[in-house]
Amino acid sequence: MTHAGRFAPSPSGELHVGNLRTAILAWLFARSTGRRFLLRVEDLDRARAGAEAAQLRDLAAVGVTWDGGVVRQTDREPLYTAAIGELAAAGLTYECFCTRREIQEAPSAPHAPQGAYPGTCRGLSAAELEFKRSTRPAAIRLRSSVAEWTVEDMLHGSFTGVVDDFVLRRNDGVTAYNLAVVVDDAEQGIDQVVRGDDLLPSTPRQAYLASLLNMPVPEYAHVPLVVNADGARLAKRDGAVTLGDLAAVGHPAEAVQRTILQSLGLPGDSLEAALEGFSPARLPREPWVWPGA
Ligand SMILES: [Zn+2]
Repeated sequence: MTHAGRFAPSPSGELHVGNLRTAILAWLFARSTGRRFLLRVEDLDRARAGAEAAQLRDLAAVGVTWDGGVVRQTDREPLYTAAIGELAAAGLTYECFCTRREIQEAPSAPHAPQGAYPGTCRGLSAAELEFKRSTRPAAIRLRSSVAEWTVEDMLHGSFTGVVDDFVLRRNDGVTAYNLAVVVDDAEQGIDQVVRGDDLLPSTPRQAYLASLLNMPVPEYAHVPLVVNADGARLAKRDGAVTLGDLAAVGHPAEAVQRTILQSLGLPGDSLEAALEGFSPARLPREPWVWPGA
């Protein structure tokens, strides 16, 4: 088996310094453990024309290199369809016709956490199914047999989170993120997932799904986000936060790379130089407050 880490941006716009810092961290985790580093474009949803090229350019500008070609999720539908077919054959999927509003307004199952799917369509009769199929297209949900699942995270330790009957394929035909990411990581030999800690809550769903598909569960490191002065997750509205905007106010890519490495307590001349001092145990565990430009 190959050993690999990855960065997997959604091409919905330009990367900002928070995204670039996560990419640099993923690169450091992979390279410091002798792994390959792969780049996957998660373009199933919200892809914007030109964004991918701009993102790849910006990653290269801050020193993030990757092995092999770029993989795009829109090229991989047959893999996702095969995985859903495997789950369906094992009786682990069902059709769901609920609208978002119906889910919000449905009484939740006892002890079910906020936002969990209440299971409305889990037990539809053949007649109900036939009628509902004539009214609107179905989403495909996982028939989960657990309510929660525990993952191990290098920075967070044991983390237990909700597993509900989450969506595998939306009713517009788009493969859901949780399914695609599990299939892709396994198929690409990715055994280390480093990403922002806003994704930690969905990780138990993914690890559970991997176990159902007999796929290995990668090691996880969910890294702190970059926040603005108010403590909110950094966003485009926080001023100059993309490489293009930062260059325009006198901070070229090399300066941004140095600032990011300094925020990690690492020497700042190149990612290769930073590798020598890199240790997950010494990483700051708090969100980094972007100092502004
Ligand atoms: Zn439903």
